[in-house]
Amino acid sequence: MVRKVIKLDTDIQYLKGVGPKMAEKLHKLGIEKISDLIFHFPRIYKDYTQITKIRDIQISENQSIKVRIVGIENKRTSRRRFTVTEAVVADETGSLQVVWFNQPYLKKMLKPGVELLLNGEVKYNRFSNSYVMESPDRAKKPSIVPVYPETKGVSSYYIVKLVSKIKDQISKIEEYLPKNILDDYDLMTYCSAIWQMHEPKDSQTLTKAKERLAFDELFFVALRARINKEALKNEQAPVLAVTEGEMKVFVESLPFELTDDQKKAAWTVALDLKGHEKNPKPKKLMPSTCIPMNRLLNGDVGSGKTVVAAFAIYIAYKAGYKSILMAPTQILANQHFETLKEILEPFGMKIALATADSKKNNQFSISNCNLIVGTQAILYLKEKMEDAGLVIVDEQHRFGVNQRLKIKKLAKNDNKAPHFLSMTATPIPRSLYLSLFSDLNISRICQMPKGRKKIKTKFVEEKDREKAYDFIRKQIEAGRQAFVICSLIEEGNGEKKDKDNLFDVDQKSVIAEYEKLNKNVFPDKKIGMLHGRLKAKEKESIMGKFASGKLDILVSTSVVEVGVDVQNSTIMMIEDAERFGLAQLHQFRGRVGRGKYQSYCFVFSSTKNQKAIIRLKSFENILDGFKLSEIDLKNRGAGQIYGKIQSGHFDFIHADLGDRMLVRKATEAAENIVGNLRDYPKINRKLSEVESTRHME
Ligand code: ADP
Ligand code: MG
Repeated sequence: MVRKVIKLDTDIQYLKGVGPKMAEKLHKLGIEKISDLIFHFPRIYKDYTQITKIRDIQISENQSIKVRIVGIENKRTSRRRFTVTEAVVADETGSLQVVWFNQPYLKKMLKPGVELLLNGEVKYNRFSNSYVMESPDRAKKPSIVPVYPETKGVSSYYIVKLVSKIKDQISKIEEYLPKNILDDYDLMTYCSAIWQMHEPKDSQTLTKAKERLAFDELFFVALRARINKEALKNEQAPVLAVTEGEMKVFVESLPFELTDDQKKAAWTVALDLKGHEKNPKPKKLMPSTCIPMNRLLNGDVGSGKTVVAAFAIYIAYKAGYKSILMAPTQILANQHFETLKEILEPFGMKIALATADSKKNNQFSISNCNLIVGTQAILYLKEKMEDAGLVIVDEQHRFGVNQRLKIKKLAKNDNKAPHFLSMTATPIPRSLYLSLFSDLNISRICQMPKGRKKIKTKFVEEKDREKAYDFIRKQIEAGRQAFVICSLIEEGNGEKKDKDNLFDVDQKSVIAEYEKLNKNVFPDKKIGMLHGRLKAKEKESIMGKFASGKLDILVSTSVVEVGVDVQNSTIMMIEDAERFGLAQLHQFRGRVGRGKYQSYCFVFSSTKNQKAIIRLKSFENILDGFKLSEIDLKNRGAGQIYGKIQSGHFDFIHADLGDRMLVRKATEAAENIVGNLRDYPKINRKLSEVESTRHME
């Protein structure tokens, strides 16, 4: 057989030692070509160069210790029929119990007196009432060992071997940042950063490698924003202007008085839509055009963003233009549809719904309506939306870049671009928006509508679980409803479950909790469950039942997170709360307290990690989503799981938004080159590459 030359786009099966069978397994990790392997970075590192003394060990955190074996023995458990190797290890500050499962040979290898390095987490063991390091990994010499995302038949060890075979290819990867940027910001070159990620020399070098990759992520986002901002100056949107009298008619039609922040946001939107004087004029101005609005409406859950959107839609309608509103889920699209019909139909507007299920229910053809509300199904409608002057996207970060581009194009006609408004409840610090997303203008709604009661939040200890259930029972008997949130759908189903994690109190799952509540706790109540594995129709029907009061309790995963408005629900109970970021917990909490009743949020957690407990306790008293997001930002990096959730808004893999310094550097670099991008063809190429490979959903 002729050996293939290994290039970046070579199929992974041709790499020496892979072959078709292993290639198939690697595909499961998304590794199809050599380049996929290059960017398959370690999930974590076992750092045997940073040693923690036994005295200083933190519970439930990955740490390395340097110890000597004091005693070791094998035991067979009768109940679960496996071998437990129990060891006592010690350093000069104390001793610690360690266990391994089903590795009886360890007793022969690790005789008393043997010195070694261990890496793992210390957990509390309910059964023996003591602290134990569970199934730690071992090393003889201090080094940094990468741990890759694995799959059946593909171990981290195997990936390490594969990566070592492509060192050559990695060393030839092109640098696209100019030397002056590398120098000014003290950045590692691209190919060394990639190599160091796979095989770190030491922890400082690893930090520099991560910093380079993080810089790039921030840099390209910042650069795109600045390019958009420049481009926007040359785009023209229809002037959408109404008289103050007409605005007043709208405001007076509402069943409530707008809050000051809502008024401010609405007024700013109105100015954007008619193209206010402060805006620089487009270069070649067509008659009745202005620079398109590009505004983000950022307000906590329940702060009342929808009515501001309705106001914008009303203005477009009065000015003779149509609008499009896109939401990330059917549930939300339906809800917006109902709300907007109520507010806008009295003005004679015709509103259509476009979701996967909606076709038959529409009274109007698209060409006859003034507003389409829908999910991304809107993007695939056969009829085009002529004369759309305004596009609104709710929780836009849930859509990919391609969809975002498509929706703006959808409304384009006569060379005119639509005005654009996006809404989000994700509380992101203003400074971040200003620096990274400089093309966006922001309106924030910080205050809640009058009369909203504060949600009483309580961190509930396990021993008080029954009391909490009694309380929920009373609420239900008074006619209210409750949510129960779990972080898993089903136990032991491949969703993040630590191997050999036998002592840990099991993480709660929707299916198990649903059964438990149904059978043992509330057998006389009506309970439903909701999770991402149900079909859209089923989800819709269950949510519908809950919304109409036909269910007392809804057990759900985080799918219930955004936007759902059930005014009668007063209890939000969250299991394994340490698995969520504070901002996300806050989004859950925002599902209740939407009506006139006093509402409650019960936060459960069996973690023994002190930092996590302090974090959850702080959630009791802080009701401001923006503040919580700041705390999340500071805590980032502390927890893998929850870092992921927080970054959902940006899809960053390496960048830590809490690193203000790096954000500043990346935005400054973007600012400096946006004016003469043509001189940087390599950056241009990389930008389109980054944007076409990311956000593919
Ligand atoms: P969100 O910002 O989370 O999208 P919504 O727009 O869904 O919030 O509004 C939440 C609830 O508050 C809705 O039931 C809405 O009718 C109500 N609401 C909005 N603004 C006001 C206000 N100024 N006064 C009283 N209720 C309001
Ligand atoms: Mg909303």
